[in-house]
Amino acid sequence: MVEIYWGEDPMSAPNYVAPKCVIGLDRDGVINVDRGTYTWKGIDFEPIQGSLEAVAKLRRLGYKIAIITNQGGIEKGLFTEEDVDTLHTYMLELLGKAGCPSIDAIYYSASSRKDDPFAKPNTGMFKRCEKENKSKGIKFNQGYYVGDKISDLKAAHRIGATPILVRTGYGVETEKDLNKFAYREIKKRTKVFDTLLDFALYLEDKV
Ligand SMILES: [Mg+2]
Repeated sequence: MVEIYWGEDPMSAPNYVAPKCVIGLDRDGVINVDRGTYTWKGIDFEPIQGSLEAVAKLRRLGYKIAIITNQGGIEKGLFTEEDVDTLHTYMLELLGKAGCPSIDAIYYSASSRKDDPFAKPNTGMFKRCEKENKSKGIKFNQGYYVGDKISDLKAAHRIGATPILVRTGYGVETEKDLNKFAYREIKKRTKVFDTLLDFALYLEDKV
């Protein structure tokens, strides 16, 4: 029998399957500071305080992690998919340094158009993530999706995940928006936390 050596951390093994449900994460305004414009360069990628540690903590607790983000600047020609991939490699390096050697998936849409089935609040990215990660058992209707905008909460609601709103990024405005009659069903299901780290600490205490 051949033993595959992957270092000391089992989470860095290529065949590692996290035992708990999936936690989907929006990127801008949840993991990194939303600058009010697009972020596609490492130099502009400023992690929100405690966010990288939060992802590492969630991973250590055994959750599957999938980052799902709209990157509408691609369609606008502001940057390319290659730029996004480069930035994500950098983000994964930062996560690795923070103690999170692996995550399960990253999906991004090239537009933020309402009629794009892959852009949030539509659920194309979530469905594709489930389909392409069947062996890992990613099922959003058993998990959570964390975001800072109404479009995040809508997407979570539609795919059957528990919507988590954080008060970083646009979260404070979104929390007010949630009081609108049109969002009453979403509001009922949404849990609100100050930051991603607060959500991670909540799940840690739940165990
Ligand atoms: Mg966001």
